[in-house]
Amino acid sequence: MNYRNLRGYLREKYGGRIGKICIDGGFTCPNRDGKCGTGGCIYCTGRGSGEHITEGLPIGEQVRAALARGKSDGYIAYFQNFTNTYAPPSVLKEKYDAALTDRRIVALAVGTRPDCIDREITELIASYKARLDVWVELGLQTASDGTARIINRGYKTEVFTSAVRQLHSYGIPVVAHMIIGLPGESPADDYRTAELFNSLGVFGVKIHSLYIPRGTELEKMYLKGEYTPLTLDEYASRAAGVIARLRPDTVLHRITGDCPSDLLVAPEWNADKNAVIAKINERLSALGGQGALA
Ligand code: SF4
Repeated sequence: MNYRNLRGYLREKYGGRIGKICIDGGFTCPNRDGKCGTGGCIYCTGRGSGEHITEGLPIGEQVRAALARGKSDGYIAYFQNFTNTYAPPSVLKEKYDAALTDRRIVALAVGTRPDCIDREITELIASYKARLDVWVELGLQTASDGTARIINRGYKTEVFTSAVRQLHSYGIPVVAHMIIGLPGESPADDYRTAELFNSLGVFGVKIHSLYIPRGTELEKMYLKGEYTPLTLDEYASRAAGVIARLRPDTVLHRITGDCPSDLLVAPEWNADKNAVIAKINERLSALGGQGALA
């Protein structure tokens, strides 16, 4: 393996197979409900990045069902859909507690936006560290404020930087999300985003290409010829370039995206996850592996 992947990291740490339970916590997003925007990010499907999760089930039920299906030795409870810190701390505590009732759950992961992290929320999340591992996932996507305006991200990069520093000051690791192939971005933009992650010392990074889901603003741009997705070769080269520039201790939680086939408009190659990973590995090997160019 040319990079430090999540599966290997978890096996090393827990000595067994660790699965992930993806949870819909019943949240919304300030970039959709009008607090900071209404349309959302241009690639947001309206399911807030959790298209494969069944909506509307109580949290405890979601977890019990996943545990009954699973064959792993331990599990990460991952609050995935929308903005999982977008509620008062007392409500957040109820929701997180509802997911953490089984001793097989070894970690709590909370996906959110950096503009929805404050001191009280940070303290609440930090309070779980006494019981299990905890990390927060922040969807930065790019370090460029210019691109952030184009994709309607709704906050500046400095907000992300402050949130990471605050979480780190409470000993909470951060997983940063990045998208390669955003409109107008070049490999140089990718590398600037990777450098920001290195400078902040994030625990993990999730990378995927900008694929086009049905029913999004991005789909409209694509149909009007205003956006062309990357080819598999372009994505593999750029993803490998990013990984080669990331610090060797960064854990790669994902290097390609998962879009349900009924939602994927383009590119077709995105559906073949194994082929994408193999191509990235091939390119990364030629560059010398993760961290070779950091
Ligand atoms: S932050 Fe996430 S949930 Fe909110 S609009 Fe963007 S992609 Fe959708």
